[in-house]
Amino acid sequence: MKKTSFDIHAPGNAHHDHHDHVHDHDHDEHAPVNEHDNGPPNDYEIMSRAMQELLEEKGYIKPGQIAKRMEEFDEQFPFRGAQVVARAWVDPAFKARLLADGRAACLELGTILEAERLIAVENTPDVHNVIVCTLCSCYPRSLLGMPPSWYKSRNYRSRVVFEPRAVLKEFGTALAEDVTIRVHDSNADMRYLVIPMRPHGTEGWSEEKLSQILSRDTLVGVTVPSITNH
Ligand code: FE
Repeated sequence: MKKTSFDIHAPGNAHHDHHDHVHDHDHDEHAPVNEHDNGPPNDYEIMSRAMQELLEEKGYIKPGQIAKRMEEFDEQFPFRGAQVVARAWVDPAFKARLLADGRAACLELGTILEAERLIAVENTPDVHNVIVCTLCSCYPRSLLGMPPSWYKSRNYRSRVVFEPRAVLKEFGTALAEDVTIRVHDSNADMRYLVIPMRPHGTEGWSEEKLSQILSRDTLVGVTVPSITNH
């Protein structure tokens, strides 16, 4: 029997941030989720490009200004999540602190979380965790950088809640039927980080080497780390 649980830890959705709220106009709800980064531009990208051209034409912004701002954003929020999880893998005391108070544990490694709370959720042989923001695109940016476009898509936000196993399969992640999938709904006050299971065969690896198998997607929970190419 398939097991799925949907955890909403926050009281209601009153505290959602809408800084990059995604409106529900996607027309590709039935397309595989992970093709969003590769396919033709979607409605939002076309609208955003048109807006950019208009602003440039009217002289409000200079060409390249938006691209530059996005580069600055990437520098400001580099991918630090791998370092945090690699530390948790090698240091059980740190992992315990990360699970108890994610924000404080990240601060130990010099990362200041943008949200009030960070909840680290650990994958086990029996439970697999996945993160979503069903309302918009709340995401632990200070750990994972900019959210990928599929994370903001209505396709992912709606489907991962009621058919997580099918969505994970589209990311190439096939979980055994007896593994419970927990879907966690982020919001403005609360962000999640998945601690994946450390793969067999990584015994004795350095933190640096371990962090190389911890991709962004493994920390959102849509894929699991693998050592095949390492
Ligand atoms: Fe959100």
